[in-house]
Amino acid sequence: MAYDFDLFVIGAGSGGVRAARFAAGFGAKVAVAESRYLGGTCVNVGCVPKKLLVYGAHVADELEQAAGYGWSLEEGHFDWGTLIANKNREIERLNGIYRNLLVNSGVTLLQGHARLTGANEVEVEGQRYTAEHILIATGGWPQIPDIPGKELAITSNEAFYLKDLPRRVLVVGGGYIAVEFAGIFQGLGANTTLLYRGDLFLRGFDGSVRTHLKEELEKRGLDLQFNADIQRIDKLEDGSLKATLKDGRELVADCVFYATGRRPMLDNLGLENTGVELDARGYIRVDEQYQTTAPSILAIGDVIGRVQLTPVALAEGMAVARRLFKPEQYRPVDYQNIPTAVFSQPPIGTVGLTEEQALEAGHKVQVFESRFRAMKLTLTDIQEKTLMKLVVDAETDKVLGCHMVGPDAGEIIQGLGIALKAGATKQQFDETIGVHPTAAEEFVTMRTVTR
Ligand code: FAD
Ligand code: NDP
Repeated sequence: MAYDFDLFVIGAGSGGVRAARFAAGFGAKVAVAESRYLGGTCVNVGCVPKKLLVYGAHVADELEQAAGYGWSLEEGHFDWGTLIANKNREIERLNGIYRNLLVNSGVTLLQGHARLTGANEVEVEGQRYTAEHILIATGGWPQIPDIPGKELAITSNEAFYLKDLPRRVLVVGGGYIAVEFAGIFQGLGANTTLLYRGDLFLRGFDGSVRTHLKEELEKRGLDLQFNADIQRIDKLEDGSLKATLKDGRELVADCVFYATGRRPMLDNLGLENTGVELDARGYIRVDEQYQTTAPSILAIGDVIGRVQLTPVALAEGMAVARRLFKPEQYRPVDYQNIPTAVFSQPPIGTVGLTEEQALEAGHKVQVFESRFRAMKLTLTDIQEKTLMKLVVDAETDKVLGCHMVGPDAGEIIQGLGIALKAGATKQQFDETIGVHPTAAEEFVTMRTVTR
């Protein structure tokens, strides 16, 4: 049977665009349908605008440090509207770049919601298209627990477009987004409280990292409340919001921001017209090669709920394009040792096993840990400490994990990701000459076993 397209991609986000462009580059006839915004979550309401707001908040740190370096500045004034307008302009520029990338690769771009009408058929804006392969790359969507007053709360989607910076913010959650946005709101001057339901936020991260970040955020005046969860939200007469906690306490704020995880975006996708099944958590079930339970349909990225990071969606998109249209170049995605950063203030950079994971996996573990005041702060009154940590297998000397909390952690951890992928040993770390004077050199000069 002749199909309209070799590959029909639903969703022009990180994974979908990568798969579409490369498939077209390999000679396939490709279409992409996008209902909202080119570039998906990452470009529009994720990584990119988030990082720009983090940079904005970080300016406050630079201003605070300036006096120690002899600069006297007049009282600064921050204007949220300017930051958001400039951010929006940059996002529009990126949307245009994504459009050109697709069109110049020969991909047919269809604007509108796509719905599966069969295992080889998709409907967009009343028009039906057939395809030999269909790729679902529809990403995720924020979810707020079902509590009374949930409609009064916002998520990251709305935070990027707030008219004004709220004066008092309650951030709910203890994952990447909660910690990053608490830093953004606090850094830009809002009175910020972070509420997390468990004992300590960032579950799954290394224990030293979690404790260290908690201490540093508290030093900065962020109000961290653990074992705290909201039971209901009510609007008060003056327009502010009252959050009643499960323990009966009441907190009043101008904005309640929820970052309690994301669900797969499957709304009106028409999966019932196909043989595509979901896994126990509600994400699309795929095999190692991203094939769903319907053989002609594949799925990648946040909608399969493996690792919800842009570079992972990109790698999966690339793997699908190669497997379908350039099989001789196919290589499976390596999910081991994925480096990642949390752009909190200070940020976290991490790759490999945490100390807890290494012990649980049965390794005999040596831990090297260092805490120090960064050189840049020595001429200032700021007492922030940087944490660096190596988790080493005592028997093989292999470095199992690298963890950092401190300025530029995300930048520093990328190179260490290569070292871990190459299987570097602690001895090879030790034999690597440091770059002096930097914070990063501490990773190759830690000699004393802490534990
Ligand atoms: P998406 O990028 O979400 O793309 C899916 C696209 O599909 C969307 O454009 C959507 O409109 C479209 N779509 C959905 N349904 C349909 C339909 N039926 N028809 C047509 N189109 C449809 N990751 C990092 O690596 N680093 C970060 O710093 C980072 N920061 C983040 C900050 C925030 C606030 C958030 C929310 C996420 C962040 N992420 C970050 C995660 C990252 O954004 C995602 O992992 C990544 O975007 C997933 O890519 P994807 O292709 O699976 O989906
Ligand atoms: P996460 O899954 O990382 O964190 C969700 C948080 O919300 C957890 O602390 C969780 O607690 C808590 N939570 C979940 N359900 C409830 C509930 N019903 N009531 C109260 N608290 C709840 O999700 P995020 O929304 O922060 O981010 C989604 C994903 O996006 C991340 O996992 C990450 O993959 C990606 N991302 C990456 C970034 C980066 O690379 N820098 C930045 C932002 C997002 P508990 O731990 O107890 O379950």
